[in-house]
Amino acid sequence: MTHDAVIIGAGFGGMGAAIQLNRLGLDDICILDREDDLGGTWHVNHYPGLAVDIPSSTYSYSFEPNPYWTRLFAPGAELKKYAEHIADKYDLRRYMRFGQVVERAVWDTDGQRWNVTTADGQVVSGRYLLTATGFLSQPKMPDIPGIETFRGKVIHTSKWDDDYDLTGQRAAVIGTGATAVQLIPTISDRLAELTVYQRTAIWVSAKPDYPVPAAVRKVFASIPLTQRAVRLAGSSILEMMMVAGVLHYRDFQMANRLGEIACRAHLRRQVRDPELRRKLTPDYSFGCKRPTFSNDYYPTFNKEHVHLETEGISHIDATGIVTQDGQRRDIDVLVLATGFNLWDTNFPALEIVGRDDRNLGEFWRKNRFQAYEGITIPGFPNLLSLNSPYAYSGLSYFTTIESQMKHMARLFAEMNKRGADTFEVTEEANADFLSRMTAKVGDSVFVLGQCATANSYYFNQHGEATLLRPTTTLSTFREAGNFPLEDYSYA
Ligand code: NAP
Repeated sequence: MTHDAVIIGAGFGGMGAAIQLNRLGLDDICILDREDDLGGTWHVNHYPGLAVDIPSSTYSYSFEPNPYWTRLFAPGAELKKYAEHIADKYDLRRYMRFGQVVERAVWDTDGQRWNVTTADGQVVSGRYLLTATGFLSQPKMPDIPGIETFRGKVIHTSKWDDDYDLTGQRAAVIGTGATAVQLIPTISDRLAELTVYQRTAIWVSAKPDYPVPAAVRKVFASIPLTQRAVRLAGSSILEMMMVAGVLHYRDFQMANRLGEIACRAHLRRQVRDPELRRKLTPDYSFGCKRPTFSNDYYPTFNKEHVHLETEGISHIDATGIVTQDGQRRDIDVLVLATGFNLWDTNFPALEIVGRDDRNLGEFWRKNRFQAYEGITIPGFPNLLSLNSPYAYSGLSYFTTIESQMKHMARLFAEMNKRGADTFEVTEEANADFLSRMTAKVGDSVFVLGQCATANSYYFNQHGEATLLRPTTTLSTFREAGNFPLEDYSYA
């Protein structure tokens, strides 16, 4: 049996795609997810301190605002609840199958369908394949010599063990990205000793985070326009930061400098020790890697039992960590806040084989990372790859999701009009898009700033910043609704 569509991933991307397919009249949908419940990132991540790191009012579908966020930056559990609400309200659970690790998807030219194979050997077929496997879903385990010999507890932040009691333990946290910035202050007080191993410092600014009073939530619920106004204000600020501070670095270097100045001032206010401040100050331009917000990250390092270690790690043994200078520290628990692997294992997150045996992973690695409008690739008919190079637009993931939903609406309307069964983006349209994006990235901090020491996951293994779409979100939306229909071939 061939479904209308197979969606891989039951997070916000996959659910948005399913909602859109429903609106376009497709109801025979199968959503496969490797986890045991829906929510993607917000199901998988539940480490202490998890919260959304942009204002919550901007982090939801625009057509389904949530008036009940309790804080300006809502805690992770509320995001998970919102995901459940979406699944229920849009009746999406009936499509979902959990515990399904998808290994391979192969285009069947004769049958004009995608055959999707799971780890337990099942084959699920669909006329369309939509991959919504997330940008940050493949945990990165550091290849530090001896790590496998450590006899204490090891936890990656994306596989947090809620039953493990940290009280009175000597812990090491490796990594100082956005995850570590949330985690470290939250766990520090219950630990006997905490050493943070920092390889690259992160720009951190003050977090304007406040509880949303019940009365305000009531107003949001009863007069949705009020929340729309707040969302518009929040989105505009984020957009300004992104466009002026990052994408148009050539013209607005001052905006980028202001971001850096704000972070430096925040650090100066919170940390008195000049040596500690020096260590916590990044040596790369603001925006080369995702900066973050926190009011309690820096002060954590003022505590006597918290140490910031900037000497590189030499190796790990059964009971502790040894740094390059030969110093060792005994620990009971090793926390890996080491992030995610995008460019080796996530683009794509499974083997995808298109027309004429074209392998998507190989294609991307050999021919540069690329996807027309961040969603389709030549040689892959009827594939919508939602987590593609240049897909991520703006700072809220929902901007990306909704612009892709818009792209789907235009594409499927044209398919219907023509009575077509397949679509495929043309090589020319894809090449034009890639060269346009490459030129635009040339104006950004990624090319013109000092990013060499940032170790940023925005950059792929060839040194190209091909994750974020270097245009305004307005232009992303405009193109999603207006791309030339002849950029696709239909059959
Ligand atoms: P990340 O930003 O990639 O940070 C990983 C950290 O681990 C970096 O400091 C990295 O150092 C370090 N590291 C990795 N391998 C290492 C090794 N072998 N030795 C020493 N250090 C190593 O990952 P993340 O903090 O999980 O954040 C990823 C993204 O998730 C964020 O940028 C953000 O977009 C998102 N996020 C969102 C939220 C939210 O909205 N709630 C919360 C957390 C994260 P180098 O920099 O030197 O490689």
